[in-house]
Amino acid sequence: MKITNLLVYPVLIPLRKPFVTSLGSKYQYDGVLVKIETDEDVFGWGEAAPSKNVTKETQETVVKSLNEIKPLIAGENPFEIESIMDKINYVFGSSAKASVDIALHDILGKRLGLPLKNVFGNDKKEIRTSITVSIGKVEDVVREAVKIIDNGGRNIKLKIGLNPDEDIEKIKKIRESVGYEPRIRVDANQAYSVETAIKTLREMERYEIEFVEQPVNAKDIDGMRRVRNNVSIPVMADESVHTPEDAMNVVKNDAADMINIKIMKSGLLNALKIADICSAAGLSCMAGCMIETKIGVTAGTHLALGKRIVRFADLDGHLDLKFDPTLNGVRTEKGVNKVGDGAGFGLDVDESALKALI
Ligand SMILES: [Mg+2]
Repeated sequence: MKITNLLVYPVLIPLRKPFVTSLGSKYQYDGVLVKIETDEDVFGWGEAAPSKNVTKETQETVVKSLNEIKPLIAGENPFEIESIMDKINYVFGSSAKASVDIALHDILGKRLGLPLKNVFGNDKKEIRTSITVSIGKVEDVVREAVKIIDNGGRNIKLKIGLNPDEDIEKIKKIRESVGYEPRIRVDANQAYSVETAIKTLREMERYEIEFVEQPVNAKDIDGMRRVRNNVSIPVMADESVHTPEDAMNVVKNDAADMINIKIMKSGLLNALKIADICSAAGLSCMAGCMIETKIGVTAGTHLALGKRIVRFADLDGHLDLKFDPTLNGVRTEKGVNKVGDGAGFGLDVDESALKALI
């Protein structure tokens, strides 16, 4: 089998409501869907969800990178994923390359006639996902968190980092409203200083926080280790880990208890490698996502279901989109993600709906 074409579809999809974190606000999703065609009757879908803050990419850089990648992969055997990813490794942009990685895996699964979760190891049938609450006024955040739980959600992820006192107040009030059964995790997206992180997280300990994501700057590995050594809430590295080498750096420095794996940061092949590093080092993993269509979130869910070490999921980015051209793929019901038995990622794309979003 040979790759014959790489089709690139930039999309603009409005969000249901603004998505606010300590890194900024987002009102629409501008990502890129890709389709890799072959000389046989098999094709694969992939997605790039660029982020100025996390992957340093924009929709424009993704399109440019994919145009650069297109002639490099034409004529290649799509099953030689390691060799293809190595060949395009120098091209700019982790999510651009991840879209190719995802599409190649989709082709592999389809040809094998297996869902990718089985190819990855088939550890579990479903995984609970957190539902994210943006930064906002205390009363708005509490109201939204309560609504998520009332609608059957069991795990909230609270974006924090801009105002430590309000961060604590939000959690106190959410606990007063929903009790201690629902899990609450928090994500500071690098916003705290080491001192503020230690002080604030110690105040939060009494509210049973599942873990804190990226409390301090991504480059401050030593600072993250100091936070970890001074608070009882487990620390999860997110922006600090893009590659398997980054994961090794966190492991060597004892800087975190857990790692958030996102295919948009690492690609899929390297996501599997990061999971194996964590497994060997005794760190748990979460499969996370950006705001993405169901293509990206379905790929993340297959990863989570396939690998035992992926014990947590934050795979809710598709729920923020007003429209999604993806057919089938992941189903999120009452805060739990499942996939069907379809080969590859078990999804398709409504190409006429897709054209309306370009
Ligand atoms: Mg995060």
